Amino acid sequence: MRISLTALLLITSALSASAQTTAFVGGRLIIGGGEVIERGTLVVTDGRITAAGPTDRVTIPPGATRIDTTGKSIMPGLINAHGHVAATQGLRSSPEFYTRDNLLSQLRTYASYGVTTVYSLGDDKAAGFTLRDEGRSGPLDRARLFVAGDVITADTAEAARQRTDQVADQGPDILKIRVDDNLGTSRKMPEPAWRAAVTRAHERQLRMAVHIFYLEDARATVTAGADFVAHSVRDIPIDASFAQLLRFRNVCYSPTLTRELSTYVFESTPPFADDPFFVRGIGDEVRRQIKDPNRQAQTRANPAAALGQRYKAGLQVALRNLKSLSDQGVRIAMGTDTGPPGRFQGYFEHLELEMMADAGLTPAQIIRSATVDAAACHQNTTIGALEVGRQADLLVLGANPLDSIRALRQIEQVWIGGRRLP
Ligand SMILES: [Zn+2]
Repeated sequence: MRISLTALLLITSALSASAQTTAFVGGRLIIGGGEVIERGTLVVTDGRITAAGPTDRVTIPPGATRIDTTGKSIMPGLINAHGHVAATQGLRSSPEFYTRDNLLSQLRTYASYGVTTVYSLGDDKAAGFTLRDEGRSGPLDRARLFVAGDVITADTAEAARQRTDQVADQGPDILKIRVDDNLGTSRKMPEPAWRAAVTRAHERQLRMAVHIFYLEDARATVTAGADFVAHSVRDIPIDASFAQLLRFRNVCYSPTLTRELSTYVFESTPPFADDPFFVRGIGDEVRRQIKDPNRQAQTRANPAAALGQRYKAGLQVALRNLKSLSDQGVRIAMGTDTGPPGRFQGYFEHLELEMMADAGLTPAQIIRSATVDAAACHQNTTIGALEVGRQADLLVLGANPLDSIRALRQIEQVWIGGRRLP
């Protein structure tokens, strides 16, 4: 077959005309892994990063749309390594709320707060899997989603293997088990069952996240092969051998500090109830409810309130353990466990980052844990850094988050897959 030169030129120009190129010029580039370029230019073509470097060294392709980012900071979008899309509406939970439209609305809320990816670790149904699949192609107007399917529960090894197969057959990105007695109020998954689930997950080429509370359960499950610690150790201080184990096995640790906060903070009016950054994401009705003294009294009278006080104490242990593990070189994956009622998607991720700062982590460490490390912890190299070839999921900020993590609240633009969110 012969194609004329004219025809070839037409094809080439049609291709380049369809290429959408955007150049962010002059701002601070926070790459994700620690590198910072003070006056940088970032080029995005068809949703992916095609150049990132000092402004005087990056060539901007002709025809690119230029965005002046002088005085601003650009960083990768936040990745929540342990959140949820959930059957939640406001402060209520019901299976009928697990709909495509409600999930999309939750993913848009995440995105509006700069959370451009969420790993939903459990209770994921068909609508969640579909939205996960749709996130693989094309620019999005909402956060990317990855799913774990149903949390695997079983009483025996045989049942655990069967259940693991059933969930694995749905094609999740990771699996999850809970090894926890909820402060003595429920039965813990028996050891032969969780061991069988971990082994079967690996046979199915899937990684296993584990929900734990106690240090000894964290140690035992990671030793048995669990790949991701989905909560803080909250009973006692971690020791050097546990840190060594996580490092040696390259297992990440997701603190979910705001999950503890949510167990007690609604007994009275939370300090953030009138924070405009919080209010914009929840609506007036929910705001009225959480400030309602009768509702607060009911919360205090609920038997769960006693557990909340114990989780409050556990939070203090968790804060110290986070600092200790970070100091000992364990990779931290920012996670919040948002999604269920009272764990507000978007705002709680910012609270989480601020609580990580309270624990003693530096802004650079926190940003790393919420971007490139969160991605790496889920073995995802397509997002999480301002690097050539990765998805253009990024935030343009009006202040420098390396000075103070609260600067992350000054989000001026959110881009996902090269598209700017409205
Ligand atoms: Zn969770």
